[in-house]
Amino acid sequence: MIRHAGGCHCGRVRFEVLAPAQLQVFDCNCSICAKSGYLHLIVPRSQFQLLSGAEQLTSYQFNTGTARHLFCAVCGIKSFYVPRSHPDGYSVNARCLDDGTVSAMRVRAFDGQHWEQQVAGAASRMGEGASDG
Ligand SMILES: [Zn+2]
Repeated sequence: MIRHAGGCHCGRVRFEVLAPAQLQVFDCNCSICAKSGYLHLIVPRSQFQLLSGAEQLTSYQFNTGTARHLFCAVCGIKSFYVPRSHPDGYSVNARCLDDGTVSAMRVRAFDGQHWEQQVAGAASRMGEGASDG
């Protein structure tokens, strides 16, 4: 496990996340992820630390309302949020990690358009899921 730093575009939101140098991330095809190009790195809450920008975070909720989509009110970038599949953890946007610490990224597809089936089947098989709205 190493420490990856990341944040939003304007730099107000900054965080650190503990994860391997080689990341497994999920590319979700649900309505919101597909439009934003979000790549999910799922971590337990204990491996994520928000360093700055809490006051800039605005949340957007839809559908079941379980997921809290957090984005920077200044630059609009969603750099992390609390996913529906892991309400006790975080999904970090792998595209928002700083250069220099990620040695490789393995991208797996996650069928967020069929969230229930995907989480019931694939997520338990993989050991971790990804998310949708
Ligand atoms: Zn920002």
